[in-house]
Amino acid sequence: MELNKRQTEILEIVKMDGPITGEQIAERLNLVRATIRPDLAILTMAGYLDARPRVGYFYSGKKTVQSVADSMIGMKVGDFQSIPVVVADTVSVYDAICQMFLEDVGTLFVIDKSSNLSGVLSRKDLLRTSLGNNELEKIPVHVIMTRMPNITYCKKQDTLLYAAQKMIDQQIDSLPVVIEKEEGLEVVGRITKTNITAAFLSLAEDHEL
Ligand code: ADP
Repeated sequence: MELNKRQTEILEIVKMDGPITGEQIAERLNLVRATIRPDLAILTMAGYLDARPRVGYFYSGKKTVQSVADSMIGMKVGDFQSIPVVVADTVSVYDAICQMFLEDVGTLFVIDKSSNLSGVLSRKDLLRTSLGNNELEKIPVHVIMTRMPNITYCKKQDTLLYAAQKMIDQQIDSLPVVIEKEEGLEVVGRITKTNITAAFLSLAEDHEL
């Protein structure tokens, strides 16, 4: 459930100064009690607030499960994505390894000459090729990458839960965030397990768990 601006303000007031009466909350907002009655009812029914007769409203820290679930469902890829690191499909495996170290990422996305997503290179893809091979400058990455159409990707507006599910299902560490165009996929971001962990932590912070 998404709270509106006034409900959020009420929640803040109660968190800071609860127990507090409906009358007092309304006063703080320069409103009359009747105006905020529906908001108080929603907040109470949704489990954010508890109301005790003759005491007032107080913040019900215990009932945050629903609000945590609501926040989790509301998390979007676009709010947590990182900057993508891309390489051309013609670069050598050697250069890709250097790039991976320089940029401090675990996955590189590969683009073709029209700048569309054409592949993915993971740490193990590069490690596998490096084993017993000392001509890494001569092997272009398109020979070893996982290629389209076998790339799992997501879009900014997808939920973070969708992205997390994809990563678990496919047993991969990251997804390119793309914009679908007629000519192909434009890479605009990346979602990794680290982003998911950061989102998980932000839930704890937002809800003072
Ligand atoms: P690592 O190789 O370091 O374990 P991953 O688990 O991400 O990293 O990669 C496992 C395999 O899956 C690699 O061969 C990689 O090319 C491929 N891969 C990684 N990400 C994707 C993706 N988004 N879509 C398709 N294949 C991927």
